[in-house]
Amino acid sequence: MTPLDPDRGTADLHVHSRCSDGALTPTEVVRLAADRGLRAVALTDHDTIDGNDEAADAGARFGVEVLAGVEISTHWGGVTFHMLGYGIRPDAPGVRKTFDFLEESRRTRNPRMVERLQFLGIDITMEEILGEAAGSLVGRPHFARVLLRKGVVSSMQEAFDRFLGRGAPAYVNKERLSPADACRLIATSGGVAVLAHPGLIDRDYPGRFPGVLQHLLPLGLDGIEAHYSRHSPGETSLYLAVAQHHGLLVTGGSDFHQQEDTGPDLGVGFGSLRVPYRCFLDLRERLSAAG
Ligand SMILES: [Zn+2]
Ligand SMILES: [Zn+2]
Repeated sequence: MTPLDPDRGTADLHVHSRCSDGALTPTEVVRLAADRGLRAVALTDHDTIDGNDEAADAGARFGVEVLAGVEISTHWGGVTFHMLGYGIRPDAPGVRKTFDFLEESRRTRNPRMVERLQFLGIDITMEEILGEAAGSLVGRPHFARVLLRKGVVSSMQEAFDRFLGRGAPAYVNKERLSPADACRLIATSGGVAVLAHPGLIDRDYPGRFPGVLQHLLPLGLDGIEAHYSRHSPGETSLYLAVAQHHGLLVTGGSDFHQQEDTGPDLGVGFGSLRVPYRCFLDLRERLSAAG
């Protein structure tokens, strides 16, 4: 493989670190990508761009091309879905303020979830959750692991089903941007907007994907994550066709978190994921064309 051959090699453009709910630092993620022989990786932490600088430094050290990214939770028409933003410039107007707001809302959400669990008679404190998170951004998986350790539940799934999942008694709604706000934020900061894992929309909200897509197209949607760990081969070809039909970029990634042994692995997902390096090049080209 020559390093300049654009049609060889693979990338992973959807990866989480400890800056949100992943287990590894951005540096460790990039080092692992190098160990796995990936040519490019993009860090896409939930609602934060804090890890991107560290990932870029690690990319230079370990010889992996790194693209700055973020995964933004959005809500529209009763559907919650995720948008990926690539190449956002952190110093662009409104960027810092928006991500600070999202972090603040997440911070106040966690103590409220602890209160609800206590109200349900569970012996749990915010200190325990923070200890579990060990410095990373607190998310519901940290709650689930504390409940598991205390023997309140016997699996992560049970923790979500009984307490933490949407609609469950300890669930507290999270502040979310509208897709319009997310697209505007990404566009005005020079980034590229991609609809994340469309197959999950189809599964969680049957029949709603076409409406979501029609809503996003006029907002300046640039791409769609056709390659994804949890997409079946049939879903992947469906979303590749959707991308081609609408002239959208194709991206892909594993959604690696390194949180549970059962989660998707970096670069390969559940074994069959393969994101062509070409996807990374197309993204980068679009970004440089946007200036
Ligand atoms: Zn997601
Ligand atoms: Zn993700």
